Amino acid sequence: MSKDNLTTCSRCGSDACYETDLGADYKISMCYGCGFTTNTLMTHDSQFLEEQLEVLPELYKDLVYKDEKDQYWMPSTINNPEQGMIFIDGTSTDDWQWAASPAIEIPEDEKDRFPEGSTHKMDMKNVKRFKERDFIEALDYIGVFNNPDTPDPGSSINIGSTGSYPSPPSEK
Ligand SMILES: [Zn+2]
Repeated sequence: MSKDNLTTCSRCGSDACYETDLGADYKISMCYGCGFTTNTLMTHDSQFLEEQLEVLPELYKDLVYKDEKDQYWMPSTINNPEQGMIFIDGTSTDDWQWAASPAIEIPEDEKDRFPEGSTHKMDMKNVKRFKERDFIEALDYIGVFNNPDTPDPGSSINIGSTGSYPSPPSEK
């Protein structure tokens, strides 16, 4: 059984940091205030952290934040085929926003352009951008909170390499 708590985010200070205790000292924190996420394995020099950093796009890597407990936070990625996705859009750590793209049903006449069985596609025409601290608005925009199939918003949130990134990993 996992147990969820709201705590204060050590990155942005918001009190909308959602902590999931998965037992065995393993905890995931996901801040709805700033959209960053960490877990107890993401500490300095940990192999887990290194593996995460390897697959992160450059801008995500630059945005990784270390808190006073040597815990590393990275921007979260939302990629839910039936709701939409949220990703970071920007050119540098001083110039970025959350971009949210809702998913829409694939029109009948376009179905042959998608893998068999696909029902939804990302509606890139309706991508909306949100400020860093408005991450929760971005979640709301793609409907994370009003889908009865997703009672726990945390379940559609991926951490690091378990999610896929809309932008390709850097070649550096
Ligand atoms: Zn935060």
